[in-house]
Amino acid sequence: MKIALLCRNADLYSHQRLVGAAQERGHEIDVINHLRCYIDIASSDPEIHYDGISLKGYDAVIPRIGASVTFFGTAVLRQFEMMGVYPLNESVAITRARDKLRSLQLLQRDGVGLPNTVFAHRTSEATEILKLAGGAPVVIKLLEGTQGIGVVLGETTKAAESIIQAFGGVRTNILVQQFVKEANGEDLRCFVVGNKVVAAMLRKGKEGDFRSNLHRGGTASVVKISPKERATAIKAAKAMGLNVCGVDMLRSNEGPVVMEVNSSPGLQGIETATGVDVAGQIIQFIEKNAQPGKTHTKTP
Ligand code: ADP
Ligand code: GLU
Repeated sequence: MKIALLCRNADLYSHQRLVGAAQERGHEIDVINHLRCYIDIASSDPEIHYDGISLKGYDAVIPRIGASVTFFGTAVLRQFEMMGVYPLNESVAITRARDKLRSLQLLQRDGVGLPNTVFAHRTSEATEILKLAGGAPVVIKLLEGTQGIGVVLGETTKAAESIIQAFGGVRTNILVQQFVKEANGEDLRCFVVGNKVVAAMLRKGKEGDFRSNLHRGGTASVVKISPKERATAIKAAKAMGLNVCGVDMLRSNEGPVVMEVNSSPGLQGIETATGVDVAGQIIQFIEKNAQPGKTHTKTP
């Protein structure tokens, strides 16, 4: 097969692993920086130009689009889809996943366990918002945050109210969420490929931090997940329409609750913690599923 890997930085562990796994299995793979692509809208056939050439003949495309360039990145991916190239994850599904609120709405619709969450913009009603979220302690999240930045713990009613009001001052969208204390600063990352959880790790925050993000100094270890956790991860991936994703969940007293579904999950943490060849599994999934025109996106 001829595969395009859409990413900005070819040197990242995840991208090197995907290139290596594809080549090992006898495929041709090109790393394409989507920010350097040009889309020719006026031409009669959809085309993409890169470094003065027209990109043609790809069987599959692996999108690894950074959150900050979702708009242009998904436009380039959409163009590949319109050319009939099989996308590992579809552009619409990536767009969905990049919007935390929309994601939670879709997950709720499909009955996936979620922490009690309130979404707000006008935050002058801090007392009411807090009450709806079940009262302090709560976690307050900026809708556009990633890697644990913009996630704050409001331990008391007073603290929570002033945080909500402070965010109100900068006019941003926030989520106010029940604090799952019993998770103990740990969360589960389930790595889904197709309809399987191929690897799972338990992440633990730095001493004294309730956030378990590896970027915030957390550590990861291999973990055995329950059938319920496995089923939740797969259901979440399906609800989002993602073939490959990282489903983050907390172990609450009521069972697994999903915080977020990541459409470009990193490979380094999960492969190191579990020893699973996740990159190889992704390439095998493409081998089984890539067919020309097998995408829902026929129009922009
Ligand atoms: P980001 O998308 O920035 O990573 P998350 O929503 O995943 O933000 O939150 C970062 C971390 O904070 C999570 O990995 C988890 O450890 C912790 N966390 C988030 N929400 C809750 C919650 N409702 N209860 C307890 N811990 C939480
Ligand atoms: N049909 C729309 C789309 O694919 C919205 C449905 C959804 O958000 O899942 O983007």
